Amino acid sequence: MTAAPDDEACVTQCILEARARLEKALQTSKRNADSAQVLAVSKTKPATLVRAAWQSGQRAFGENYLQEALDKQQALSDLTDIEWHFIGPIQSNKTRAIAEHFAWVHTVEREKIARRLSEQRPRELGALDVCLQVNISGEASKAGVAPQELLALAETVMSLPGLRLRGLMAIPAPCAANASETERRAPFRQLRELLEQLQTRFPAASYPQARLDTLSMGMSADLEAAVAEGATLVRLGTAIFGARDYSHVH
Ligand SMILES: *Cc1c(COP(=O)(O)O)cnc(C)c1O
Repeated sequence: MTAAPDDEACVTQCILEARARLEKALQTSKRNADSAQVLAVSKTKPATLVRAAWQSGQRAFGENYLQEALDKQQALSDLTDIEWHFIGPIQSNKTRAIAEHFAWVHTVEREKIARRLSEQRPRELGALDVCLQVNISGEASKAGVAPQELLALAETVMSLPGLRLRGLMAIPAPCAANASETERRAPFRQLRELLEQLQTRFPAASYPQARLDTLSMGMSADLEAAVAEGATLVRLGTAIFGARDYSHVH
């Protein structure tokens, strides 16, 4: 995979626009300018474009496919402060490589996967930051833990020394074009309320190993609705790197 120089110029411009868009959304919601960050989702995009984004000051990148991510990490191994987030479905035979090569995992949805990630996390890297993926109501895909099973999974993750529970992640079903703002915000509101329940159940004073400060929600199409409900990490792919072409990837 290679990228033409004009693609790189485009990424630089798009990063600036994405930041401005996030800033405006935070302002509209009367939130602090530093209370949410952009996770640049680079799946299917070449390392050259990730490097261009890094040169524009972007540090956190999300990848969905393990082998593709490992190849890019190798190509970009000179960027020592880059931060890789795994945001794709996790098969149990992939947990070791994920535990070894990522700083964050957003898609923990099962106890078995959580236990493997914890056991396989190299101690010298410190705890792996994780979000639990929740299947919030109305979601078309089946990914994520059901809300009524979230507390039990959180309790397990909280007990695993290799993991640090940071919060929740969701991918809501796309809204109808004529959906109201209330309708657009509803799934994000639900995720925020679930995080608030976890914060109440696991207060920082009694659970110093946790840091329940993250709502990984909002993508290129619905950033504003997610930020209005408290998103702290918006996962932007298309808005930064343009439309994806899967034809030569899988
Ligand atoms: C691909 C992907 C994104 C980015 O989606 P865009 O609509 O391109 O911004 C965000 N989150 C997850 C989990 C993804 O797989």
